[in-house]
Amino acid sequence: MSLLRNSSIGNKLLIINIASMSVAMFILVLSIITIMFFSSRNSLLEDVRNQVHILGESLAPAMLFNDMETAKALFTALPPYIEYVTVLDKQGEEFISYSQKTDTVNVPAASAAKNYFPKVYIDYPIVVNDRAVGLIQASASLDKIYDQLAKFLLFTLFSLLLSSALGILMLRHLQTYLINPIVGLTKSMRLISNTDNYSLRFHLDSKDELGELASGFNTMLNKIQSHQVKLDAELVRRREAEDRLQQLAFYDNVTHLPNRHFFKERLESVVTSTLRYNTSCCVILIDLDDFKNVNDTLGHHVGDELLKAVAERLSKELRGSDALCRIGGDEFAIILDHTDEIMQVEYIADRMIRLLSLPFMLQGQEIFIGASIGASFCPADASDIPTLLRNADNAMYSAKNRGKNHFLIYKPDMDHKSMKRFTLENALRRALELEEIFLTYQPFMQIDTNKIVGFEVLVRWNNPELGVVQPADFIPIAEETGLIIPIGEYVLYEACLQTKHWRKDFGFEGTISVNLSGRQLLKPDIVERIVKIVQSVELPFNLLNLELTESILMDHSKETFDKLEALNNLGFSISIDDFGTGYSSMSYLKRYPINTLKIDRSFISDLPDDANDVAISKAIIALGQSLSMKIVAEGVETKEQLNFLEACGCNFAQGFFYSKPMSAEQAENFILTRQSHSV
Ligand code: C2E
Ligand code: CA
Ligand code: CA
Repeated sequence: MSLLRNSSIGNKLLIINIASMSVAMFILVLSIITIMFFSSRNSLLEDVRNQVHILGESLAPAMLFNDMETAKALFTALPPYIEYVTVLDKQGEEFISYSQKTDTVNVPAASAAKNYFPKVYIDYPIVVNDRAVGLIQASASLDKIYDQLAKFLLFTLFSLLLSSALGILMLRHLQTYLINPIVGLTKSMRLISNTDNYSLRFHLDSKDELGELASGFNTMLNKIQSHQVKLDAELVRRREAEDRLQQLAFYDNVTHLPNRHFFKERLESVVTSTLRYNTSCCVILIDLDDFKNVNDTLGHHVGDELLKAVAERLSKELRGSDALCRIGGDEFAIILDHTDEIMQVEYIADRMIRLLSLPFMLQGQEIFIGASIGASFCPADASDIPTLLRNADNAMYSAKNRGKNHFLIYKPDMDHKSMKRFTLENALRRALELEEIFLTYQPFMQIDTNKIVGFEVLVRWNNPELGVVQPADFIPIAEETGLIIPIGEYVLYEACLQTKHWRKDFGFEGTISVNLSGRQLLKPDIVERIVKIVQSVELPFNLLNLELTESILMDHSKETFDKLEALNNLGFSISIDDFGTGYSSMSYLKRYPINTLKIDRSFISDLPDDANDVAISKAIIALGQSLSMKIVAEGVETKEQLNFLEACGCNFAQGFFYSKPMSAEQAENFILTRQSHSV
């Protein structure tokens, strides 16, 4: 039974077919044989009866006359299937008997008249004139019938075998209609489950149960496929969400660089392996100079674009293994793994400074920034992350203090400097309220008349612990921290007040020049602020001169232009400070409303001996004259310088030659002595 269960459908069909055919044939053959047997037997009986009847008719006279010879002769005519005949007389005595086998007729009685299965027996009375004169007992053999039946059986078996063989062949052929679709369906199922390709379908054109099975299978696949599509979409959504989370957690949204979080993790693993394998690594911190200006003037959108461009330029310079990260607003960091060569780090930093000092083209305009870079090595400078970072930070700030575009590797004395900076920053925050900020005044003079044209206000900070701090030491910190706004406004207010006082009390007619930081000019309401302060003091607007450095004007933005135009239209005059040190492009001179050019001290100090300085200062004077601007020479210390400048056509000068920056009282004296002197 288990054989049947485990065999293929084809074999099952074959076995079932053979079994059912065999049972049917067996019953059919048995029925035919039974019918044949009984009908043959009945006809045999009939024949025997007829023969015995004829024999009885013929025997009767022989028995009456006891004529044995005639009687014997009668038996010879009997058909061969009658095997035994016994004739009894009326007393029941055997009259004569006959045996087919021995072909003898015996007189002795034979009591073979027994009826058993293979033979038929018949008793037949011999009647003469309605009187029984004797009895014939005959038996006939069924052998002939058996022979016939055996032949029939043989033939039937043969035809059965033949038809079975044909049937099997036909079945084998026909069952393909049944089995092939099932095999095909099974193959499709296997293929789909192996490849997970739920878009496959099994096509079957029949409309029977197999057709229904195939269409049910396809319907099921449709459902699986649509579920699969939904599942795939869900998976994609999840993966995207995970990626986004990962991106948010470890990457910066603007530049797509790794963020501070990533940087810290990476640094931790690099430092750990550096210490374990006795190698060396380096952290480089990059801080963009002037980025805040761009962000404030041109907006965050341009600021973001700039950061992206910076990230792109920096990335190109690095190996794949060097991690470049954005760790703050305008701060980037690089981890150089397996690096102990100062030369290599210097080379990279140099390249980066050069790359970042090239202009960036954003929104159709050139934007200039720069970078201050500091680096620290592990384990040479520090073997723990906080110290390593602090060192790199100190190096970076020391680089910044040197001016733009500098790179420094950490040195232990920087700690002192950074502490100093830290102290300065904290003290500066309280300088205004503690009234530690005060003003000094340096006159600038008309060379030919030796008259005071005006005073430039130069701020100082007097701290009880630090002493008098020079602007070079605290203005950059004030700009970075934003403290320059209140300090600048305080200076402006005090300067205007002082000027008004000098005008009133000493008849001073000169102007007052105030330095305006780039950070101040970025204030959207800077014009209103200045106007408000000057108005509050009631100083005529045309007495105030605002000094701006070239770099402030380099952004070429419409906002800057509008502000300067507004200030100029209100009557304030505008000077370019430190002229010649900023940028090569002079186009801004034509664009902005500029009244005065102040030739930078660096071009004056070596006059009249240095040929280059001679050429430059002459060129600046010529340029200013051609643009109808006033020219002021800064940092004039000697008579020779003054004579040379005057000869070149420069009408105004400022510098130690006349006076160092002075207190208000000293300036008052200066005004008084000059006035009396010039009178
Ligand atoms: P600056 O505007 O170029 O100021 C001129 C600087 O040159 C002053 O330095 C002045 O003391 C110095 N100086 C003038 N004549 C001579 C000379 O003959 N020889 C030499 N060697 N130096 C001379 P100071 O006062 O240290 O100011 C430095 C800078 O700080 C200024 O340069 C200016 O950019 C900035 N600053 C000063 N006060 C203010 C302020 O109130 N606001 C802003 N935003 N910046 C200020
Ligand atoms: Ca100045
Ligand atoms: Ca200057």
